[in-house]
Amino acid sequence: MEAQVRGGYFKRILEVDLSLRKSRVLELSDRFILKYIGGRGFGAKLVWDNLRPGLDPLGPENIVVVAPGPLTGLFLPAAGKTSLVSISPATGIYADSNVGGMFGVELRQAGYDALVIRGRAEKLSYIWIDNGTVEIVVNEDLKGKGSLETEGMIRRQIGDQMVKIATIGPAGENLVRIACITADWGRNAGRTGMGAIFGSKNLKAIAVRGARDLPVYDVKLLKELSDRAFEGLKKHPYFEFWQRQGLMSVVDYLNHAGVLPTYNYRDGHFDRADKINGYVMEERYKIGDTACFGCPMSCGKINLVKEGKYAGTVVEGPEYETACMFGSNLGVDNFAFILKANALCDELGVDTISAGNLIGLLIEGYETGILKLADIDGMALHWGDEESILALVEKTARREGVGNVLADGAKRVLEKWPGLKPIISEVKGLEQSAYDGRATISMALAYATSDIGAHHARAWTVGKELEMGADWGIEEKVNLVIYHQQARPVFDMLGVCRLPWIELGFSELHYPEFYRAVTGVSMPIEDMFRRSDDLYNLTRLINISRGATSKDDYPPERAFTLPIQTGPQAGKVIDRAQYEEMIQLYYKKRGWDKSGVPPASLKHQFSDKLNE
Ligand code: SF4
Repeated sequence: MEAQVRGGYFKRILEVDLSLRKSRVLELSDRFILKYIGGRGFGAKLVWDNLRPGLDPLGPENIVVVAPGPLTGLFLPAAGKTSLVSISPATGIYADSNVGGMFGVELRQAGYDALVIRGRAEKLSYIWIDNGTVEIVVNEDLKGKGSLETEGMIRRQIGDQMVKIATIGPAGENLVRIACITADWGRNAGRTGMGAIFGSKNLKAIAVRGARDLPVYDVKLLKELSDRAFEGLKKHPYFEFWQRQGLMSVVDYLNHAGVLPTYNYRDGHFDRADKINGYVMEERYKIGDTACFGCPMSCGKINLVKEGKYAGTVVEGPEYETACMFGSNLGVDNFAFILKANALCDELGVDTISAGNLIGLLIEGYETGILKLADIDGMALHWGDEESILALVEKTARREGVGNVLADGAKRVLEKWPGLKPIISEVKGLEQSAYDGRATISMALAYATSDIGAHHARAWTVGKELEMGADWGIEEKVNLVIYHQQARPVFDMLGVCRLPWIELGFSELHYPEFYRAVTGVSMPIEDMFRRSDDLYNLTRLINISRGATSKDDYPPERAFTLPIQTGPQAGKVIDRAQYEEMIQLYYKKRGWDKSGVPPASLKHQFSDKLNE
């Protein structure tokens, strides 16, 4: 008999149709809940159900699912995450991106396990969810406004400073395929172009207010478990340092390891990394810390530039990826500039990883003569060219000149300039994140087999592979990638942050215990991993139905052809034959055929309904 779900869910999804200006509530069965768990699991299933031939990611027929998880908003370590799930306008395949802060918590408190948005509003609007009331509010005054300004305007219009808001900036409105969604003044769902999907729907923002208690099956047990978990985290030797620097602590680690993307991923070592690291931030710029809901790790850093030409810039950030992509990857050693670029991207609503990646590509493309001055609006680009870099961010968000090319993302940049193929760093059309894969072949495999393209959050294997060195063969590395791809979706399905697990050794075995206390359901970690594998199969099927093939399961060409230039990993490059062996082993372990296709019978597994 199926277990009964006695907490953790409202068992309701809110669906808003912007074309019809209507909303309705869809009921969820316990069977559905236990199969897909929540967050990214719910999102992928709803996207699968909505697939149809020729679906245009920027058409009204595409949906975007906003899905926290059953643990989001509870007093557990780092339980403030929400997934946004759709079909990407940048890559054309399955897409998700997650955001922390408070937004998803408030959505849950309004009484919903997820929100599905379909259709297209006639005029620029925002969705206003006030507990059980849903309104589509037309507000054309928001047109062209930055993300942070929009939050303020909507709060003033509603007359409630506590409303939680997720919004796009001008980039999303302009259908920039690398546009992000920003919540809570600077937390971003950055990857895969979610901002453009909002823009295509004439949806400027979602505002939420919720006052309901979250359903918990055994409050006493949950409190005991979470007290223990918080204590354990705080005792970790790295905890205090993490609180001080957050993800910025990674700059030095990666540079010393020789895998810090530098000069458009040409190199893995930046000789001026000490000018853009966590210590520089701490000593000269940091004015405060911030955290997602209930998170003691508070990795958000508020920074202020006090002097110089960027004086007055204040921003939540940078995270490591932004510091790398606008620092070493562009040959910049000025931390104040990185803060300025971060603030600009946030206000315009542009993903910092994609933007830094593509701008680096442009600089190298020009330097190597692949691109001519006429291609890049007459800007004689060079490494560390701060003024031009900021101009390119603006041009991208506004689709001006060469920015109109960058705005369409890596896939279309390559279509326009195929000559850039040897120097571009992307997989499946998604710009690669800020970790070099040449010295760690497992990371290259992780990028290549990620269901959304070259994003590190699917599997981050760099640390472990470097630690194991020559002791590990191909099989251990494949196992490592699959293990990460199993573990990480569990966090996204539950609506929690993976960073305690990655950075502070927080055991994944905590989560079945939390889940049992919250829902009354025993689901061992092996069962959670099985559901996670199912999710990977489901997103693989979505991608295949969208035209993806095994040809898309390769790291960027540069990973095979250009050795790392300097630093401790100098000379490292991926051996093609070894990679071929690895990808075949990966498919085999996944239970897919030699072309990376899951068994046909799996499709039936996902034909179920929400409420049966
Ligand atoms: Fe948010 Fe950072 Fe805590 Fe994760 S570790 S929940 S990103 S504050």
